[in-house]
Amino acid sequence: MKNIVLFGPPGAGKGTQADVLKEKYQLVHISTGDVFRFNIRNATELGTLAKSYMDKGHLVPDEVTINMLNAEVEKNPDANGFIFDGFPRTKAQAKALAQLMDEKKSQINAMVALEVDDEVLVERLLERGKSSGRPDDANEEVIRERIAEYYRKTDILKEFYQAQDKYFGVDGVGSIDEITERLSNVIDTL
Ligand code: AMP
Repeated sequence: MKNIVLFGPPGAGKGTQADVLKEKYQLVHISTGDVFRFNIRNATELGTLAKSYMDKGHLVPDEVTINMLNAEVEKNPDANGFIFDGFPRTKAQAKALAQLMDEKKSQINAMVALEVDDEVLVERLLERGKSSGRPDDANEEVIRERIAEYYRKTDILKEFYQAQDKYFGVDGVGSIDEITERLSNVIDTL
């Protein structure tokens, strides 16, 4: 079982690459952002709560996010492995994920991070906002707040995984195929 955390700031290309990698390695792709957006579209209680944070570019509270992630993993008892996209984003989430994997007699094999300069991220997200329909992509202030939130709470997870020799940084600038190849070079060694 291969369990991979696909990491990087907003706009680094995690979702795009996860879509390719899940097919290539037959992994279940869980994007916490996608699950929140699904709940918003379906006007659930979770969706209403999540939206109040997402619209500001802030993280949804840990307890809510962790419970949701656990439920998504439990929906896939026969998975060959998981590709986590947008989770964990805080140390509490990383610890909860380690515990969940432990309960499954499994583990996170690697955090593979897409590295992209901040100004490139802003440009990419503004461009994506023209067609994604995501309110948090349409407003530069919210985009910059999401990146700030990443540096406040999420970036530190590099150290968490580095301490376990599980952190792999990859240049996130290039064509989709080039970046898939860089990520695959890491995943193939696991
Ligand atoms: P994403 O689709 O990964 O860019 O996430 C969009 C938004 O959903 C984020 O800006 C957060 O508000 C929320 N979100 C997604 N994943 C998480 C997470 N792991 N923890 C907290 N909030 C999250």
